[in-house]
Amino acid sequence: MNGCVYCPYHHQNKTIPRKKLTQEEVRAEVIALQDMGHKRLAIEAGEDPVNNPLEYILECIKTIYSVHHKNGDIRRVNVNIAATTVENYRKLKDAGIGTYILFQETYHKESYEQLHPTGPKHNYAYHTEAMDRAMEGGIDDVGLGVLFGLELYKYEFAGLLMHAEHLEAVHGVGPHTISVPRLKKADDIDPDQFDNGIDDDTFAKITACIRLAVPYTGIIISTRENEQVRSRLLHLGVSQVSGGSRTSVGGYAGYSAEERPHDTEQFDVSDQRSLDEVVQWLMENGHIPSFCTACYREGRTGDRFMSLCKNGQILNCCHPNALMTLSEYLEDYASDSAKEIGYKMVEEELKRIPKDKVRAIAEQNIQDIKNSNRRDFRF
Ligand code: SF4
Repeated sequence: MNGCVYCPYHHQNKTIPRKKLTQEEVRAEVIALQDMGHKRLAIEAGEDPVNNPLEYILECIKTIYSVHHKNGDIRRVNVNIAATTVENYRKLKDAGIGTYILFQETYHKESYEQLHPTGPKHNYAYHTEAMDRAMEGGIDDVGLGVLFGLELYKYEFAGLLMHAEHLEAVHGVGPHTISVPRLKKADDIDPDQFDNGIDDDTFAKITACIRLAVPYTGIIISTRENEQVRSRLLHLGVSQVSGGSRTSVGGYAGYSAEERPHDTEQFDVSDQRSLDEVVQWLMENGHIPSFCTACYREGRTGDRFMSLCKNGQILNCCHPNALMTLSEYLEDYASDSAKEIGYKMVEEELKRIPKDKVRAIAEQNIQDIKNSNRRDFRF
């Protein structure tokens, strides 16, 4: 319904097909994602109260959590839908969502209104105060982000930090994640028409400064960026990466790894590697690819999560959980080469777990995973 001038899904674009997945199609998408090895996903949906009311999103969440294909499970559904009411946020919380993500696009009010000339998203205050309503509705993990390139980056950077500071001051919980998307080329969108684009060096500097300013947050870099940029940013504070992503509606099921449907896509991703290639690349660069979703399932969200994160104790959970969930991936989905590197990494990392008891439990669980004796254990 919205007229966002930087996105091909804007209302005036008559060339891009509109598509709504049936629950059967949602199931098929989830199975395709599980077959790749994913344990979490993000729901993205357009704003359309008639065709896409909250009830539809809730139904999709239920379907997603109900699919258990082979050893697959989606254990955390993050939701990225338009700003809504406290009541609706409460319903999303009750449906068991992980993080509620909403990008601000730009914090600059005048630009915001020009960039969103029509539709409900035009309302700057309603959009900007969405996270307060989400928290009022009980959602305590929220994800912030601006679309770099729309406005002057210094203004956006300050706005982002002020938003984080505000959430912490008022609700006692800062952002669970901060995403750093940059404007991309898409159907009927030319990023060169926007004159606030930032180069790779500035982008790297912004990411590093976010890491220093908001040390407890998860910084997300998506497949919008290519391998080279992602490699650089991983060393500057990025902690979450996506892999094998597609932005078309229903773009996973029925397509091979090489086939990329372009008909309904929001933009083409720059990093087109498979999840297995991304996992292998992370390990080759010395990072442990973790598929952990333990905190949300153990109720470690909001201020409980924040305090563990700020004092560093969360590492006692993250480290063994990462090794156990990586082992699940290696056993169920990995290529032979990823498996070889992965198990070497798991072996080395197990030795680094400081507490004997924790190490012994993690070792036992990894052995059980290898022996197909799954117990879904987590710290
Ligand atoms: S234990 Fe660590 S890796 Fe696992 S969900 Fe919690 S913070 Fe994330």
